Amino acid sequence: TKHFPVRARGRAALSRVPKVVHAVDDVSLSLRKGRVTALVGESGSGKSTVARLLAQLYPRTGGDIRIDGVSTAVKGGRQFKAYARRVQLIFQDPFASLNPVHTVRHHLTRALKIHGRYEGEQSLTELLGRVQLTPASLYLDKYPHELSGGQRQRVSIARALAADPEALLADEPVSMLDVSIRLGVLNLLADLKNRLNLAVLYITHDIASARYFADETLVMYAGRMVEGGDSETVTQRPAHPYTHLLVHSAPDPERVRGATEPIDEEDSGEPPSLIDPPSGCRFHPRCPKAMEVCRVRVPERTLVGDAPDHWVACWLFGDEGGENETTALVGK
Ligand code: SF4
Ligand code: MG
Repeated sequence: TKHFPVRARGRAALSRVPKVVHAVDDVSLSLRKGRVTALVGESGSGKSTVARLLAQLYPRTGGDIRIDGVSTAVKGGRQFKAYARRVQLIFQDPFASLNPVHTVRHHLTRALKIHGRYEGEQSLTELLGRVQLTPASLYLDKYPHELSGGQRQRVSIARALAADPEALLADEPVSMLDVSIRLGVLNLLADLKNRLNLAVLYITHDIASARYFADETLVMYAGRMVEGGDSETVTQRPAHPYTHLLVHSAPDPERVRGATEPIDEEDSGEPPSLIDPPSGCRFHPRCPKAMEVCRVRVPERTLVGDAPDHWVACWLFGDEGGENETTALVGK
């Protein structure tokens, strides 16, 4: 869970109740080695916040992060370094995350030295080989602006691999890239996952690419997780009305490309404000199937039953939901 305080202005500043943005609430997920987990949602759904929490870039409001069952409490720089050796984050915009005044050689050397893994030129060549930038001599002395977007993102990935991590958190790693080269970068990540037995979190607003690339798909809406399961099931037989909307508004399921506007025009709704999120199910103001209970109670995770591990947080499913319960609840 992550809540950000909001600085109140004007008359609101007089209120005694401090406002918070409910960016992430009760999100729970597991990453496993050799598996890609996709976290899908619109912008503003909290998925980047989840990545930053998992990278321990800022403290969480509640909850825990465990590796092999052991709680990881990062308080100081040394603990952060030890954690970052195991869990690395790749950003959406490789241009912004690489320093324009430094060469590829500088970026990679520095990353290797931080993690005590620098063993001369050979280790640089090896890293670039891992991200298929060969021969290394062609790239080592280049500056970020001398590389294409795809090459820059590969350098960012190489820099993350310098730590020899167990998990890679990739926050929209291809959404800033040309459509024509997205597939190449995703295939590289899939290849690295297999060869290095990495756990990969793939964050995207493009549910079609999750089906193609991820073993497991989790869907977030307005700071909460609403559905999860194996990617084939979630993308082909979505249970949650929001996932339905995402799947049916994805522009071209056969190609790996980003939907800039994942929700189609018929749905005039907007993602809600997370300062004052809707009560109960946060999707209820936009949901075509909303019932009374949806406004009152937060739906819990329920197994859907059509495939193992396919779960949904929606009152349409499970024993407690359904019309009867709704009527009874409203009647009280
Ligand atoms: Fe729609 Fe209710 Fe399910 Fe939320 S809980 S998705 S409002 S039916
Ligand atoms: Mg984001």
